[in-house]
Amino acid sequence: MCDNDLIAENLMQNLQITSSVDHDEEDEQEESEDKQEESDEEDEQEEDDDIVEIGVVKRLKLSRFPSPFKTIAGGFPAWLDPINLPSGTSTICGICGDPLQFLIQVYAPSEKESTFHRTLFIFMCPSMKCLLEDQHEQRKHPSNNPSRSVKVFRCQLPRSNKFYASEALDHNDGKVKAALCSWCKTWKGCSVCVNCRSACYCSKKHQAAHWRKGHNFECRNLAVDRQHIESNFAANNTIWPQFKIGIRVEPKDDMMSENGGYATGLSSAGNVDEEFNPLLYSVEADADTRSWAIFEERVSRVPGQVLRYCRNVGASPLWPISSNRPSETDVPRCCYCGGPRCFEFQIMPQLLHHFGVQNDENSLDWSTIVIYTCEASCDGSMAYKEEFAWVQLLN
Ligand SMILES: [Zn+2]
Ligand SMILES: [Zn+2]
Ligand SMILES: [Zn+2]
Ligand SMILES: [Zn+2]
Repeated sequence: MCDNDLIAENLMQNLQITSSVDHDEEDEQEESEDKQEESDEEDEQEEDDDIVEIGVVKRLKLSRFPSPFKTIAGGFPAWLDPINLPSGTSTICGICGDPLQFLIQVYAPSEKESTFHRTLFIFMCPSMKCLLEDQHEQRKHPSNNPSRSVKVFRCQLPRSNKFYASEALDHNDGKVKAALCSWCKTWKGCSVCVNCRSACYCSKKHQAAHWRKGHNFECRNLAVDRQHIESNFAANNTIWPQFKIGIRVEPKDDMMSENGGYATGLSSAGNVDEEFNPLLYSVEADADTRSWAIFEERVSRVPGQVLRYCRNVGASPLWPISSNRPSETDVPRCCYCGGPRCFEFQIMPQLLHHFGVQNDENSLDWSTIVIYTCEASCDGSMAYKEEFAWVQLLN
């Protein structure tokens, strides 16, 4: 990553932060933008089947409870099924045992009646040490119980369901929902604070963290005055900041059509001299250089992108490097219906910049996280079905 500074600069230019005063007005504006994006998309689809939809950070979204019908990153998830949340070992890092942190949710409904609403939720352990170990685990067959530090859940609902009105495309502001952990606001709060009986937690770890960060003080007050329960809770500053993700169609670059992007990508990256570098005669290094050049060119079309979405049959991810990609057998079949899984979207490393993750040696880093989901979006009794993530690191 020699171009980190340049990438960071591009990212800054693309941050679309609006200072929010009137939410309703903003949301109306947002809806019309979304509609514009949709119609752009329809125009494009006539020209090319392999349309990639790009997610960019749109603006800070901190002051309102997020909608399960939106694509958002950071903060806490807006569970689509607000009652039957994932539980038990699904919610913790398989390596260190800590509760997983919410990374991103992608609202991706499809034509089928059973997937009128469909949202994918991605969680990960913020520890780079765990992510490095996860590299070995992701290759394991499901029967060997891989201990993943990155987990994906698929939740879907038919148009007629018990949580949302069938004609409404907005959510009910959480009238029915499971009690969430007072610290992470992500997982079910299964154990209640014995003193105030107001705060509840998903884990001992989060209870301890909440206590240290101010609940020790508020707990005493809450036991006396329970009026200010919600508003007075100590703030969690360890979760990532929350952003709304805006979706747009990736622009085409006609210049690239002649050569698939290879030569242009290389020369635009200023690497002309490397043609004479004997290192590049190594087959793998050459493949990685080529892959990186294509990656850079595609990403440069929409700088700062955090998400690439394409669920067309046969679509493939944009790999930063050609090594450390999954073989066909590395992507396990759906563990609910036994059918194949296909590529659906990938999460880009630029998201880490928005989260304010430092660029040090031990900080969390990835080159891409690719999400594979059941091709049939199968139904079943589980509200949240685990899908598969493949994490590619740069080295
Ligand atoms: Zn971990
Ligand atoms: Zn928690
Ligand atoms: Zn308490
Ligand atoms: Zn399935």
